Amino acid sequence: MRAVVDAILSGDHSAAVFAALPVPSSYRAVTVHKDEVGMFAGMARADKDPRKSLHVDEVPVPEVGPGEALVAVMAGSVNYNTVWSSVFEPVPTFGFLERYGRISPLTARHDLPYHVLGSDLAGVVLRTGPGVNAWKPGDEVVAHCLSVELEHPDGHDDTLLDPEQRIWGFETNFGGLAELALVKANQLMPKAAHLTWEEAAAPGLVNSTAYRQLVSRNGAGMKLGDLVLVWGAGGGLGSYATQLVLASGATPVCVVSSAEKARLCRESGAELVVDRRAEGYRFWRDERTQDPKEWRRFGARIRELTGGRDPDIVFEHPGRETFGASVYVARRGGTVVTCASTSGFLHEFDNRYLWMNLKRVVGSHFANYREAWEANELIRRGLIHPTLSRTYPLEETGRAVYEVHRNLHHGKVGVLALAPREGLGVRDPGLRAARLEAINRFRAG
Ligand code: NAP
Repeated sequence: MRAVVDAILSGDHSAAVFAALPVPSSYRAVTVHKDEVGMFAGMARADKDPRKSLHVDEVPVPEVGPGEALVAVMAGSVNYNTVWSSVFEPVPTFGFLERYGRISPLTARHDLPYHVLGSDLAGVVLRTGPGVNAWKPGDEVVAHCLSVELEHPDGHDDTLLDPEQRIWGFETNFGGLAELALVKANQLMPKAAHLTWEEAAAPGLVNSTAYRQLVSRNGAGMKLGDLVLVWGAGGGLGSYATQLVLASGATPVCVVSSAEKARLCRESGAELVVDRRAEGYRFWRDERTQDPKEWRRFGARIRELTGGRDPDIVFEHPGRETFGASVYVARRGGTVVTCASTSGFLHEFDNRYLWMNLKRVVGSHFANYREAWEANELIRRGLIHPTLSRTYPLEETGRAVYEVHRNLHHGKVGVLALAPREGLGVRDPGLRAARLEAINRFRAG
């Protein structure tokens, strides 16, 4: 692996140099083990510790198939799906690998007794398989996490509708929390030249998801002037949603749970912030009963902040705990757009507020290649900037995932794979200086 790292650090990224580099027979990767899926049986989710279930193993390099690319990973990032995988909830991910493995001999490579996790990467293409023409060894890339087979007509309008749609590194093997990763070539996108490896690896999954949820016609179709309630605005999805709202000329109302996260939202340009913990909202009286008085108190607070307006769009992902409130506070004709259920999948809301007020609930999931590409262009053009609170070495990925599981982080948490230290990978320092200056100008108002 030394030769690969040296070649990347040398900056000579000619295809000939990279195509001639020997591919090692094994690599270090963050895994969960199939024979350990019962290790947390009977425990509450909060008590399940990713530091116990995540391993760093030396694993064999998979063969590169048609339409695929093997990427030398300089950095990856922690997504909440790695939390789900590491606590084996809602189901162990090995079932996904078994099902995928049944499609063909090629997909059977994924069905292993270990699962290499990770749905983001920044790195350099090492090898491409037959039929790959758009990418070559030496290309600096990031990878989005949509894996599709596209053998069925349903996926040829919006690829998310492909019946064989999967999230790479969660529902497939050989993910990005590793020194090498196997992706489909149509997951690759150019890395932003002004970013470090760890910055470039941070936005992919969450930025693309928030882009589809808010900006795309497949999501809420946000427009100039909209008021958007952003739950978890200091977290992974929320920190990008907030930036997308601001950059679109809409107004975010950011919900967070600490003064520190409130400060970070304000620093990013958001003026309207609700600290849900400080204001003590309790939307559920007990496990079965919601409290509409608390919905009303929350709605009144939003109106107080906005001069009487209700949100045109509610950016939802906490799920059961907040969904009733989200449906209640959305304006007449407004949209609740949801991509997750962190606090519980079985949502309850008062349907009278939905139908009588002509509101919509829209389900959204990751992003298609086009949407992921457009979201990546916003990063490359400096309109959206990576939010990265901390970066860990690969060996300490368990700690990084623990931090996200316990909601101790803000923005994104990065992981260095082959990059020997933070701060490397900026190819255009002039552009970086200009981008950072533009961001500071924007934040200063
Ligand atoms: P994250 O970085 O942990 O951020 C989530 C934020 O949600 C937290 O910062 C927290 O903010 C807030 N939150 C958590 N529990 C809450 C609750 N009970 N009530 C109100 N707010 C709560 O995670 P993420 O990366 O943003 O992902 C969030 C969820 O979306 C996860 O379930 C993830 O699996 C899912 N997701 C789905 C997709 C998709 O394609 N479908 C893509 C990305 C993520 P405060 O404590 O500051 O309020």
